[in-house]
This record gives sequence, structure tokens and C-alpha cells, in this order.
Amino acid sequence: MTDKYEQVIELAKRRGFLWNSFELYGGTAGFYDYGPLGAMLKRRVENIWRDIFVINEEYYEIEVPTIGIEDIFIASGHVGGFSDPLTECLKCKEAFRADHLVGDVVENPDTLSADELTVVIGKHNIKCPECGGGLGKVYEFNLMFKTSIGPGGKRSGYLRPETAQGMFVDFPRLLKFYRDRLPFGVTQIGKAYRNEISPRQGVIRLREFTQAEAEIFIDPRDKTHPKFGEISDIILVLYSQKGQEQGSSEKMSIGDAVQNKIIAHQFLGYCLARTYQFLVRVGVSPEKLRFRQHMKDEMAHYAADCWDAEIQSDRFGWVEVVGIADRTDYDLKAHAKQSETELNVYVSYDKPIKVERFAVKPNMGVLGPMFKGNAGKIANALKLLKSEDLSGETIEVVVDGKVIQVDKEAVSFENVTEEVHGETIIPHVIEPSFGIDRITYSLLEHSYFEEEAKVEEGEEEEKRIVLRLPPEVAPVQAAVLPLLTRKELIDPANKIVKALRKAGILVAFDDSGTIGRRYRRNDEIGTPYSITVDYQTIDDGTVTIRDRDSMKQVRAGMDGIEENIYDMIYKGKSFDEAGRKV
Ligand code: AMP
Repeated sequence: MTDKYEQVIELAKRRGFLWNSFELYGGTAGFYDYGPLGAMLKRRVENIWRDIFVINEEYYEIEVPTIGIEDIFIASGHVGGFSDPLTECLKCKEAFRADHLVGDVVENPDTLSADELTVVIGKHNIKCPECGGGLGKVYEFNLMFKTSIGPGGKRSGYLRPETAQGMFVDFPRLLKFYRDRLPFGVTQIGKAYRNEISPRQGVIRLREFTQAEAEIFIDPRDKTHPKFGEISDIILVLYSQKGQEQGSSEKMSIGDAVQNKIIAHQFLGYCLARTYQFLVRVGVSPEKLRFRQHMKDEMAHYAADCWDAEIQSDRFGWVEVVGIADRTDYDLKAHAKQSETELNVYVSYDKPIKVERFAVKPNMGVLGPMFKGNAGKIANALKLLKSEDLSGETIEVVVDGKVIQVDKEAVSFENVTEEVHGETIIPHVIEPSFGIDRITYSLLEHSYFEEEAKVEEGEEEEKRIVLRLPPEVAPVQAAVLPLLTRKELIDPANKIVKALRKAGILVAFDDSGTIGRRYRRNDEIGTPYSITVDYQTIDDGTVTIRDRDSMKQVRAGMDGIEENIYDMIYKGKSFDEAGRKV
């Protein structure tokens, strides 16, 4: 029996959404081409993402190279630890993810080390799924594609495994751009590369894919969100750590989830809400969407909390499409260490605060004659001492690597009250990370329907395939169909096409075959509106607009049709309303 994945991929290939890459040469797993309709669909999804995160949140977009130098990935931990456990068949040499092979015999196999996986494979006598041969020792395989920069291979580089690092590396420049104030966010949409061991899940696991990521730098002392009130009533399906232990998810408002400490804080809750709104707007079914919290042993050691948006797919079950994490100060600290540069922000307090401080006052009258040219350096070293350093008989300081004894009479000390106007902090990072390809595939699957055809005027009876894509993401937004290929109908049809194009609407002109066939062709690529030009058009200047989902038809004026269609696509105007404009 064909499942939905097969149906969607068959349509996607036939109509130019998705093709296996390098097909001419036999193809390679883990790479897909977006055909003419797929590329436009994906672009529209990305643009809705931009609308939400770049325009409405003001997280400006940047674009950095997809190749990164080695230092970046040493700092991020990818050189040391971005790997999956691999085992090879000793007979046919096929490679497998070892943790995927033991999924039936142990729980949470992704938490096991390579050695532990080798033991499990041996104990349960697990064989090669392809040929039944024995499996070799499991080892960690780094997923980054390595390359060298410049001739001679002197400098190592890697194709980036995520877009995030480029945004951390640009932190000092971004901080200036945002005038040294927190919070601020930055985004990037672009390619990421992972040399997946054996991608057998079609478009779900790719070796080259598109990520859309936001890195939001916030003040760690305040993880509330100024716009939390706008989203706190949104209800999400949450599959929390506790829920997973009990095997059940629950519906809850984001406000309640934050209040009950299920979601760590408002900022994270806010990102979950915007993620939900984005996914639903591009066409993911809300009933096939849930937010799963990472279990403690699954969460990165530095993360304060982490949630995945998961989408239910017919073949693959729940698939992670977005990861939303509070990454704390891990990334900035790691890059600060590797680059030996301070990555922090000075934050001013609303009101200065009074702080009591122990202060050492060097007596230059004593130090000067005693230490001559060195007196200044010694005085500075003395100022850094704490009260416990002054409890002994003599005082010791280290200057230029030498221990120097200083007489007690050379210093006085006291507690002073100072006004402090701010402090230097390392921002925390909240990161929503979206996999655009998985989302694009999921919305195709969720909008794919096969129906017994309702016979419309001029149609033969057959199965109707329809992609119920939101009009905003449909690659072709309107079809113009002259009833007959006669000049008196073609001319007004061309006029309509021109007007629609001028309004920025992607329109297909189709004059071949019966009108019913033309509707079908457009239904299966998700074109939301078909405009038919007939003899009545010549008489009264009206056309028929057909709605893809309801198959209802209304008559509307040819004049201003572009505005009519535009408002239905982008402004939520209803189809019935469109018919009133005759
Ligand atoms: P990660 O950095 O692993 O949390 O990935 C962030 C997002 O990128 C995931 O939620 C996925 O949607 C997407 N992603 C990760 N790996 C792949 C892959 N191999 N193929 C397609 N999408 C991926």
C-alpha cells in the first residue's frame, strides 16, 4: 500500500517540486533538488519566516560564508564532538548509524557511547540489515565535511554544519550595530552541511539542507519578554519531560506553562509561540504539531532548557523540525576563549546602586623611597588585594613574576561606599533553529488530499488530487484560463495576466485541454484561484473565479481583479467577498 510519503513524492517529482539530485548520474542519497515549483514554495516559506522574525521581531538578517575556518569549529565543539556512532558491515561494507540499529533492544540508544553500542550489538547478535553479515566495532564519525582553504592544504576549513556559528563570531560587530544594548537578535537563512552516515529518510535527512536560525542575545538577569502578553493565551500541545515519563502530552497555554515552570522562562515561551504561529501559517496542521522538551540526559550540558517542534508524518512518525534552546553563555564564552577576545556587554543600571567595597590605599610616601621606579606597579598590585591578604605580619604582592614583601605601614585600608552605574555581563543566547526542508516537506504532506472527484462542468470523472496550501505559500497563485483559444477570449485573458503580474502575483496562463483538466492540473500544484474568461466576459466585463478548496465559483469584475486576488492571498479577504465585486 502506498503511504502519503510515496504519494507526495510522486506528485512532487512529476510536477516539479522535488527531484533527486544528480539523477543523470544515478544520484546520491541525502541530496535533493527543488524544481521550479518547489524552489518557489520554499522561498515563500522562507519569506514568511522573514516576515515573522526579521520584520516583526526586528532580528536583522546577515549572510556569512558557508565555509568556516577551523578555529570556529574548535570553539563550538564541532571538531571534537559533532559525530554519530558508525558501524560497518564486515561483509558488504555498508555503513550504518549504530544507535539506529539497536533502537529495538535498548532505550535511548543515542545516549550510549561507541563502546557501549559495540557491546549491545554483540550481546544481541545484531546483523547487517542489508546482507545479514557481521558488524564491525562502533566508532564516532565526525559529520562535518572537511576542506582546505587555498592551495597546498595549509589551512583547514569546514562546510558549516549550522548557520549559528557565523552569528556568534560576528557578535562584537553586531553589538555595535545594535548600539551596545540588550536584548538584540540576528538571523540567518542559509545552507548547512552534515555528512550524515546513511540517510535513508528521503528529504527528512539531507547532507545539504537549509536552516533558518535566530540567535537572540539577552541579559541573563532578565528572561522575561516585553511582548509575552501578546502570546500567553496561545494553547500548545506540550510533551514535557514529565509527560514523556508518563507517556502523555497535554494541551496548555504558554502563560500557564511558564507560570508552572514547565517552560523555563518567558523568552523561551515566546519563541515557542512564534514558532507555532509560523508553522501553522505556512500550512502545517496544528493537530499534527507538538512541542517536545529535551530529556535531561539528551539536553546539551550547557543548555538551560530545550524544546523541539515536532511534526507528525505518515511514514516517519514525529519528526523534529525546529529546535528552540536557551544556550546560556556557552557560545560566547567558547569563542571568547578560542579567539582570546572579550565577548561581553556593559549594561547600565536604571538607577545607580551603592556598593560597599574594601579598598586598599597605598601610601606613596613610603613606597616611593623604598621601591623607586617600581613603586607605581607595586601600588597597583596592592590595590587589588582583598582583606584576607592583609591579615598576616607582612604583605606580599607579585610584580613582573617576582614576589615582593611590603611593609604594613605602606598601606592603609578601609570599607568605602561607591556608586556603581552598571556591570559587564556575558549575554545568554536563545536560539530557535528551523530546518526549512523538513518544514517544506511536512506542509506538502499535510496539504495533500486525494478526493473522489465531484464532477464539475466540463469535467471527466476522476480522482482529484489537491494541495490545500495556504494561498500565501502556493507557488503559483492564480491561473488564467480562457475558455476557448479564440482571440476575443485570449486578449482579455492576457490583459488579466499582465495586471496580476504587475501586482506581484505569480500567474500561470493555461489554454490547453478541457477546463476541467486545467482545474485539476492547478489543484494538484495548489493554485488557490483559477480565473476563467468566457463569452460573458466580452458582454459584461466579468470573469469566473474558482476556489481550489471548495470548488465554488463566483463572478467578479475583470477590472481590479488583481486587487481582488491580492487581498484574498495576503489580506485574508474571503472568497465570498471576492464575488461581490462585479
Ligand atoms: P540541530 O542543529 O541538529 O538542532 O538542527 C536544527 C534543525 O535543522 C532541525 O530541527 C532540523 O529541522 C534541521 N536538520 C538537522 N539535520 C538535518 C538533516 N540532516 N536534514 C535536514 N534537516 C536537518
